[in-house]
Amino acid sequence: VICHLSAYHHSRTVKSCVGLALFFIITGVPPVSVPEKWPGGYMDCGGKSQSPINIVTRKTVKDERLTPIEFKNYQQTFKNSITNNGHSVKVNIPITCTISGGDLSTTYKAVQFHLHWGKDGGPGSEHTVDGEQYPMELHIVHMKSNYADLATALRDPNGVAVLGFFYEVILLNRLLYFSLPSISLAQLIPPEQKLTSYYRYKGSLTTPPCSESVVWTVFETPIPLSMDQMKAFSKVQFYDGKSMANNFRPVQPLNGRLVYRSAGATLWVSSVFLFICTVSFYAHHI
Ligand SMILES: [Zn+2]
Repeated sequence: VICHLSAYHHSRTVKSCVGLALFFIITGVPPVSVPEKWPGGYMDCGGKSQSPINIVTRKTVKDERLTPIEFKNYQQTFKNSITNNGHSVKVNIPITCTISGGDLSTTYKAVQFHLHWGKDGGPGSEHTVDGEQYPMELHIVHMKSNYADLATALRDPNGVAVLGFFYEVILLNRLLYFSLPSISLAQLIPPEQKLTSYYRYKGSLTTPPCSESVVWTVFETPIPLSMDQMKAFSKVQFYDGKSMANNFRPVQPLNGRLVYRSAGATLWVSSVFLFICTVSFYAHHI
C-alpha cells in the first residue's frame, strides 16, 4: 500500500491524506456489471429512493435541526488494510469511531470507507451539486451502533448513515510521498470546523444490492488533492486487469424526495442573484 501525504500552506497549514492502493489481492468477487443492468439482478436498484442524486441547491430546504455532526474517536489510528471489492478500493475500520448529532436518530459507528473516481482527474464523484461532478468522492459508511453487522443494518430503513465528501484538484506547494501503515479517519477529511455545511437526504447504497436504508450526509467543503494524487487512482485495476476508473453510479431520479441543508450550507446560485439577472435582461430587451 502506497500512500501520499500532501501538505500545503494557505493562511494556515492544512494536511490532507489519502491512501492509494496500487496493487490488490484478487479475491473471488465477480467483476461489477454496468449500473444500468443492476435492477435486473437486484430489485432495490430499480427503487424510488436511489442514490446518488444531483443536489439542486436552490431547491434544498434549510433545516435548523442539521447541527454539526459529532465525531467520536475519528482521531484514533488503525492499520490501513485496503481491499479491492470490485467496485472500489475499500478500507475496513477495525476500531470504534462514531458519529451522532446532526439530526441523526441515534449513534452510528463507522464500518468502512471507499472512494469513487473518474479517469485521470476527470469527472468521478457520485453526487453532483447543481450538475457539477467533482473528480472524486469519499464515502465513510456507518451503521447504527447497536447492530452487529451491515447486513442487519441494511434491513432498517435508517440503519446506515453514509458521509460523502467531494475532492477538488488544487495546486499544491509541497508534496510528501511515503508509505503510511496506519491512518485515522480525521486524516482523510477536512477539519471539523469546515464540516458544518452539508446536505441531508434519504437514499440508498450506490452499488448492489442498492438497499434503501441510507441516511446520506453530503458535505459542501471539498477535500483538496493534487493532480498527481488524483491521477494515481487511474492505476487501480478491476479484477480483469482493466483500469478501475469511472466507478461511479450515474445520478438517480429524486422521485419527490426533499434534500435538506444545514444552516451553514450556501446556495451556490442565490435566487436574489437570478432575480437581478432577470430584471437586467428585461431592462435591456424591452
Ligand atoms: Zn460509495
